[in-house]
Amino acid sequence: MRPLPLPPNPMPRFYRGGSRIAALRGLPDGDDRAPEDWVGSVTTAFGSAVVGLSHLEDGRTLPEALASDTEAFLGPEHVAGRDPALLVKLLDANERLPVHFHPDRGFARRHLDTPFGKSEGWVVAAAEGADAVVFLGLRETVELEALADWVERQDTAALLAALNRIPTEPGDTFFVPAGTLHAIGEGLLIVELQEPSDLSVLLEWDGFQIDGRADGHLGLGFGTVLPAADRDRLQPDQLGRLRAGRVDDGRPGVERLFPPEADAFFRAERIRPAPSCPLPQEFSILVVLDGAGRLETEAGELPLGRGATVLVPWAAGEGALEGQLEVLRCLPPAERA
Ligand SMILES: [Zn+2]
Repeated sequence: MRPLPLPPNPMPRFYRGGSRIAALRGLPDGDDRAPEDWVGSVTTAFGSAVVGLSHLEDGRTLPEALASDTEAFLGPEHVAGRDPALLVKLLDANERLPVHFHPDRGFARRHLDTPFGKSEGWVVAAAEGADAVVFLGLRETVELEALADWVERQDTAALLAALNRIPTEPGDTFFVPAGTLHAIGEGLLIVELQEPSDLSVLLEWDGFQIDGRADGHLGLGFGTVLPAADRDRLQPDQLGRLRAGRVDDGRPGVERLFPPEADAFFRAERIRPAPSCPLPQEFSILVVLDGAGRLETEAGELPLGRGATVLVPWAAGEGALEGQLEVLRCLPPAERA
């Protein structure tokens, strides 16, 4: 099975953005209301049966294609059964995103009858302006009553002040475990890897085009969802770990991203072929961040340019990246959910 180019899959959301995605992909600028592009998606937006699914160039949805030949796509050893267990997004914040968090797998199973939570990882692809920051984790431990009070009164100042505010630049990475409070600042283009779900708890909605009081708690009520937030202080060494990468595993041009605890949810490599980089046989989603070159596999080759997104099925066999490229290779979890 040949590598499959993934056409753009723009997603309308309640916040503004999209121009940085269009610029990355070399497309005309849109209306600033599609701030995400879901890449290789078998995931639907919360409450929808179809919105969010990726389409292949032949018109099929990715789940249709996967169902027709699961083993060719995922390989016999894939840990998560018949699901890639991975969602990759391009995310352009043209305004600061509200403070929020995501539930973990245990909560998702107990309350929503779904196997995946939403631990996520960010790779910063562009950072423009003075507000190109991320907010990640609590600076001090917060009692549940205080958190509930900030949400009830929509005390944005208190919520933001409680979080670590971290200036960022292109190349930075962050692992964001489920439960961790966070927000993304204005001016950031991020490639996000995450569990394949769309489960968010909004703590802030004042000034955004969404009614969080109605739609911010997954239909469960804040009394049920707020206790799933991690209210402990994020210690400096923990924060350092969330930002850390991995020791070089010896493959030239390959940088492994995210700390080992992220492996249960997704894995990622930043590859700069020097000038060629071999790719082991594995299902993956490629995002070309910069440059031009090509992907070679046993099943065929594909030219690559900035902004291209490609699904590499297991059955493409071993491969290689060639050229002046910066590619993010996104991989499924290493452990069963
Ligand atoms: Zn998030």
